[in-house]
Amino acid sequence: MPSAPVWLQHPSSLRHDTVPHPEQPARISAIERELSARGWLGFERVTSPAVDREVLDAVHPAAYVESIERACLNGGGFLDADTVVSEGSFDAALHAAGGAVRMVDLLLGGDVPSAFSAHRPPGHHALPARAMGFCLFNNIAVAARYALDARGLERVMIVDWDVHHGNGTNDIFRDTSEVLFVSIHQSPLYPGTGGASDAGSGEGLGFTVNLPVRPGADDAVFCSLVDHVVVPLARSFEPQLMLVSAGYDAHRDDPLAACELTEDGFAAMTRSIRGVSDSLEIPVGCVLEGGYALDALAKSVAATLEALREPVPAPAAPAGDGVSPLVSQARERLGQWWPALA
Ligand SMILES: [Zn+2]
Repeated sequence: MPSAPVWLQHPSSLRHDTVPHPEQPARISAIERELSARGWLGFERVTSPAVDREVLDAVHPAAYVESIERACLNGGGFLDADTVVSEGSFDAALHAAGGAVRMVDLLLGGDVPSAFSAHRPPGHHALPARAMGFCLFNNIAVAARYALDARGLERVMIVDWDVHHGNGTNDIFRDTSEVLFVSIHQSPLYPGTGGASDAGSGEGLGFTVNLPVRPGADDAVFCSLVDHVVVPLARSFEPQLMLVSAGYDAHRDDPLAACELTEDGFAAMTRSIRGVSDSLEIPVGCVLEGGYALDALAKSVAATLEALREPVPAPAAPAGDGVSPLVSQARERLGQWWPALA
């Protein structure tokens, strides 16, 4: 059992052949080149297994999984306007979900405080029976569902800082209070969901938290939402596991969106999330989502790992200076479910 932080990977990520497409194998190569040059930043590398089909079926109906398998075996093609598969994509998708599930096992084993599951295709747009937005299976949702069903957890928190709304994760956990899903994303932008008024439904009302930001949102905006909304939500919810849908397309160099984050912003968000997780004595696992500017992606993942590998003292109550007005709007809205935020 590794005691260092863990990096989960599988070579099948390189055989999900989408070129020409921004979600391309070179994303993984760029990240691994950067990390390799830096000694993997002390992370122990683990090869991901394919996901157990029963575990996958807990989120995705077997008929849908088989339809993806058939599409790939038949040589691939476009599943929707921007989601393409090749012969190798099914195997890649099984390992992308399997990596996230293996990560949960390692994190809950007690010896691994933090981990990063870095595969393609990404997952947070995938609905139970519909591929979309470059995503086939919702890797983080499969992992969270596994943590609840197979590992007996009662509360899992998912923070999604990909610049696009994680509509798949949002909808999969819309009706449950077992998963607190918090997404910071640019609006307007694909896929057009994730308005602030979408707070979940039924027993899950208040357990879906959407924090849309305007184009141009920078480190200060994202970090103030993390420090003043995400962190206090975590303290109130008291999750037993923290998962992050770690997309890097909010970076200022990214071609697919118009936010202005830097590597420092990703590092700061990671420190805050690691900090509150340490104070709750729970592990943190990141799952790679988007990020299409190769150099920015590689450097931002490295910045995340640097922040992820060190224990962080519990964050002090942050000062009110420089707080985005989005914070007070969000806290006012969330106060009805989360009194500590009112
Ligand atoms: Zn994205």
